[in-house]
Amino acid sequence: MPASSPLPNPLIAAMSAYAPGEQPQGEGWVKLNTNENPYPPSAQVVQALQEAVGVKSANFRLYPSPDSAPVREAVSHLHGLPASQVVVGNGSDDILNLLIRAYAGPGRAVGMLDPSYSLYTVLAAAQGAPLVKVPLQADGSWSAEAIAQSGATVFFLTNPNAPLGFVFAASQVALLAERFAGLLVVDEAYADFAGVDCVALVKSHPNVVVTRTLSKAYALAGLRVGYALCPVGVAEILHRVRDSYNLDRLAQVAAVAALQDKTWLKVTVGKVCATRSLVGQRLQSLGWKVNPAAGNFIFAEPRSRTREPSLATAADAFEFLRARKILVRRFPHHPLTATGLRISVGTEAEMQAFLAAAEAWSQG
Ligand code: PMP
Repeated sequence: MPASSPLPNPLIAAMSAYAPGEQPQGEGWVKLNTNENPYPPSAQVVQALQEAVGVKSANFRLYPSPDSAPVREAVSHLHGLPASQVVVGNGSDDILNLLIRAYAGPGRAVGMLDPSYSLYTVLAAAQGAPLVKVPLQADGSWSAEAIAQSGATVFFLTNPNAPLGFVFAASQVALLAERFAGLLVVDEAYADFAGVDCVALVKSHPNVVVTRTLSKAYALAGLRVGYALCPVGVAEILHRVRDSYNLDRLAQVAAVAALQDKTWLKVTVGKVCATRSLVGQRLQSLGWKVNPAAGNFIFAEPRSRTREPSLATAADAFEFLRARKILVRRFPHHPLTATGLRISVGTEAEMQAFLAAAEAWSQG
């Protein structure tokens, strides 16, 4: 028997895994840390799933559609793009991974705004791709020139930005797409809450890809569905590196039903956005500094009678909330995020509980 286990690929040995938000065990938590939808999915989704596990369960012995054809059709219908321009993934994280595997690598850098979604860093490291970070300023601005000059082969623009919450106008993104020579991926995980999107740019610009997820607005984080809207040539490349059956039968059934129920989407997104603006106003009245919020979360700097915003103040507020079983998210490793908390928008009742605790902390 060998004395030790074989060494892994050095790239993998050197990298760290993505750190997902805490999934607390036990009952009674107000979970505002991973930007899930606080409402259950559409009744049409539940009905379609019940049928799939009931009368149609014999189908489980069969592989699902390899390229998620029914989901691609539903996406095509929703956005007015041919299904040949749609690639479906096991969550949009799968799509981001496919993009980096297919377009980045040694000598082919991945670019991102900093701060934004930290998964890009992890995926780039796994492929041995250099990483270039272009700063996002405290006021939500960034330099198209810096991105154009970044040398990145593929650049991820998270729009709305996570975790800071800013949204960038499609016209601004279009100007960037015209200056940037590489593949511009607009990660629209939160676009349904923003009222702004860049889908039209996929039709007008040959280097633009838009990624979407059903985890947030459609309340299906547990079933893992995301998709890319992209030029046909990009879709063909992504299909090459995709797992042959990357979406299981249940996820495909749920996704089709979800994408068809536009009324549910409108009502649910409307409720989340209404709660978001109420909570933002209340936090401001407590003296917290609240960023413009375009996603289903609010980024805010806690401030109390006795404490100015700082890393320690944010940590104190976080622990105060956590002790009351209210879980939010901290990002202590970047100066623009270290002094704040990212608070997912929950139900009205959850947000009342959060606001009561935030008020108690602010008066302390
Ligand atoms: N992009 C961004 C900016 C996100 O915040 C998330 C959720 N963590 C994702 C993509 C991935 O979402 P999912 O894999 O659940 O579709």
